[in-house]
Amino acid sequence: MRAWGLRMPLPEASLLLLLATLGHALATEPEAVTAAEPAVTAASDPFAVHARVVTLDNGLRVVVERIDRTDELALHLHVGVGSRDEEPGQYGLAHLFEHLMFEGSEHARGNAYDTLVTGAGGENNAFTTEDETAYHVVAPSGALERLLFLESDRLGFLSAGVTEEAVKNQIDVVIQEREQGYAAVHGKDYDVLQQMVYPQGHPYHRPVIGTVDDVEAFTVDKARAFHRRYYQPSNVVLGVVGNIDLDHAIERTAWWFSDVPDQGPVARIDPEDLPRHGTTQRGILADNVDDTTVYLSWDGAAINDPDEAALVVASFILSDGRGTRIDRHYYKKGWITDSDARSWSQELDGQFLVSLTSDKPKPKPLERILRKEVAKLASKPPSEAELDRARRKIRGLLLDSLERPADRVEVLVDCVRLDGDPDCTRTDWARIQAVTPADVSAAIARLGEPAAMLIVAPTSDAPALDEGMSYVEPM
Ligand SMILES: [Zn+2]
Repeated sequence: MRAWGLRMPLPEASLLLLLATLGHALATEPEAVTAAEPAVTAASDPFAVHARVVTLDNGLRVVVERIDRTDELALHLHVGVGSRDEEPGQYGLAHLFEHLMFEGSEHARGNAYDTLVTGAGGENNAFTTEDETAYHVVAPSGALERLLFLESDRLGFLSAGVTEEAVKNQIDVVIQEREQGYAAVHGKDYDVLQQMVYPQGHPYHRPVIGTVDDVEAFTVDKARAFHRRYYQPSNVVLGVVGNIDLDHAIERTAWWFSDVPDQGPVARIDPEDLPRHGTTQRGILADNVDDTTVYLSWDGAAINDPDEAALVVASFILSDGRGTRIDRHYYKKGWITDSDARSWSQELDGQFLVSLTSDKPKPKPLERILRKEVAKLASKPPSEAELDRARRKIRGLLLDSLERPADRVEVLVDCVRLDGDPDCTRTDWARIQAVTPADVSAAIARLGEPAAMLIVAPTSDAPALDEGMSYVEPM
């Protein structure tokens, strides 16, 4: 996702493990098939991670790794709360809260956070998804002490900085963000797909950005209660990667964070109880687009589902440039203007998504091609050559995610929180390697009928509604 961009812009989302998010836009240039990778020896193991993980007495998990080849320090703080955790009447609170984290804390009032980070030569950002809220800083290695102070202060002593004025300002900012996001080309696709694929009552049904009514009704009290409930050390994983001394980094992290109190475990949703549609939801989104896109989306694999790796491989066999099965239609047919396939896993659920776009306002041929290619892959295993090409590509992407400290720290944090092991990229690669042609077909066959078929069409040219179809908009 980070590296190769979704056509549907996600609301401030980066997704989880790279393996969980291997989406890929169509390559418009033919890709040279790269030569086989050299054999990997233990000494040159490119997946090697030398991280240390410690848990403080208050439950905060910390993962640190020293990388000598950089002057950069990257810090990533994950909080285990996202829009899935919001109660009715509070849709959008996780994301609004992300904004409030930049509005000042007890010992770093006002915009001190931003001033001190940029003053140290650093950059920061944050994002909220259905599953998590994360805060990310990159700065020169010397800024460690400053960053630990700032992060521990807003984790443990934020409440003082959450004022009426800050909440009111950020409500306006978020409402504007929602408007701008939805006004962007294909800016509604993601939220509408989530809404269609996951029925009402499913924690992924509603948009991360929230509903206008709920966002406008947020108060200081709601925000403070939210912080107390979810911003607990035991619900946080902090990662630090850079040219740092490990003992020193752990000692300083403990010093800054150990006075943050923990209120005990956070209640979680039981994924067994998730509601499902029995039939394919069919909808039309009339929007400010030039071309017509058809999405087919299946209820796919959650993170660590046994089919996750096979579905990721399948998505690359379907759409990864010239010669892949759905993209082939793009290269052959002048009226097809874009094409994509992705397997996309989140903590509770996932989507397997394919799409085609055309400059002709006729969605039916697009749907037919997509259904045909997916059905073919379900009924007959792909060739070894197809599988090999997909594996090689995925291996490259996994290795890329370990290259820069800024990406690597996020991978380590995700590995620790989802797999309990900072070394999980290697495990992910082993899972990809183990996928057989028969596994790919079987996983696709298990998808069954699509959960949703969405047509995104130009407002001026939207197709008429067929039976069982409705116009859709974000909630
Ligand atoms: Zn935002």
